[in-house]
Amino acid sequence: MRHLVSGAAGFIGSHLCDRLLADGQEVVGLDNLITGSPQNIEHLRSRANFRFERCDVSIPVPESLIPGRFDQVWHLASLASPKHYLAHPIETLESGSSGTRNMLEIARRDNARFLITSTSECYGDPVVHPQVETYWGNVNPVGLRSCYDESKRYAEAMTMAYWRTHAVRTNIARIFNTYGPRMALDDGRVVPAFLDQALHGLPLTVFGDGAQTRSFCYVSDMVEGLMRLSQSEERFPVNLGNPLELTILEFAQRISRLAGENLKIAYEPLPSDDPKQRQPDITKARTILGWEPKVKLEDGLRETLDYFKSLAAVSARP
Ligand code: UDP
Repeated sequence: MRHLVSGAAGFIGSHLCDRLLADGQEVVGLDNLITGSPQNIEHLRSRANFRFERCDVSIPVPESLIPGRFDQVWHLASLASPKHYLAHPIETLESGSSGTRNMLEIARRDNARFLITSTSECYGDPVVHPQVETYWGNVNPVGLRSCYDESKRYAEAMTMAYWRTHAVRTNIARIFNTYGPRMALDDGRVVPAFLDQALHGLPLTVFGDGAQTRSFCYVSDMVEGLMRLSQSEERFPVNLGNPLELTILEFAQRISRLAGENLKIAYEPLPSDDPKQRQPDITKARTILGWEPKVKLEDGLRETLDYFKSLAAVSARP
């Protein structure tokens, strides 16, 4: 099979490319590198089945750049960390809107399957807990985070429209907080932020009182979920995430334990519209995909910490 992956140099995108290539597939990866990193796919450059093109999928991708037909189109390109999407709100809206439309057009043209990575942010600051796919969400449509939330909600609506209008075989993954190697250390999300602070023995920056909750899924589990979903006939959104829910303060304590140090906590202001709680109900994924996360938080965090240590070792070399 021949796959087109947008966001191929990103955190999850690069792991998806690894998996597809390991399965013997052919992959063409696209990324504008606004947040993706060439390092994430450096190890794939020499692979005969892999090709990378730097381009912005918010603009229709010229056929001359990616000749030939595709069997599966994956649209992962998006700014994903609050720090980045707050700095680039228009690009964020564009990748979810025009980017989704352009990738869907390629799938329609080629009669290919299509999968989009949507987000738990579709639920906004949820009042239904845990979040189930049938919940419509509680999103501030004009707040600072709206560039991300609303672009993904639009992307879901456009994806459903392509299925209903053009019978494109679409899948929508609503992915919850995901972590692992190849996250950018400075992307501001809580996992790299705390691990970076732990590596340097610095206080952990907890925003607000730390009572807000999140549920963290390791990237290999996420990729397995995406692979399974891409084979399913389910057209409505499916939650993918790890149901283990922790307050951010509890999460900070886990990081302290992992680092083997009693790290201090530095309280900082809570960003606006920061969801108070988030936990996926994965009954649907369990039932229709036979999927659930396997990697324990401690194991996944250790892998991620080792990755960040290895980066630090490389940059410290003369
Ligand atoms: N957070 C924190 N300290 C940090 C970074 C984030 O306490 O240095 C909090 C943030 O306010 C949110 C949670 O951790 O409640 C997860 O934030 P992240 O940016 O990783 O993802 P989000 O789920 O908000 O998209």
